[in-house]
Amino acid sequence: MSDGPKITFAQTRASGVTSVLVYCSGYRCSHWNRFGADRWPDDVRLSDIEPKFICQACGLRGADVRPDWDTAEPQLVIGLPTDSHSGE
Ligand SMILES: [Zn+2]
Repeated sequence: MSDGPKITFAQTRASGVTSVLVYCSGYRCSHWNRFGADRWPDDVRLSDIEPKFICQACGLRGADVRPDWDTAEPQLVIGLPTDSHSGE
């Protein structure tokens, strides 16, 4: 369980990610859930909370916590400026 990135919730939120995905650590169990990243303090690492989860589906303790990149703000995406309103 120590092969994951040691990133904190502060770093996660700084990346624009607003929630985390928590996967059951049972390899035969595909249960997962999404939690808002704002419920944990800045100095807590994602790996710190993994042992605290108990799967609702199979009852196994331990989980795999990953940043939910789908919720990240697309800050690094190059696009058209949004302030160029063309009046109709
Ligand atoms: Zn499970």
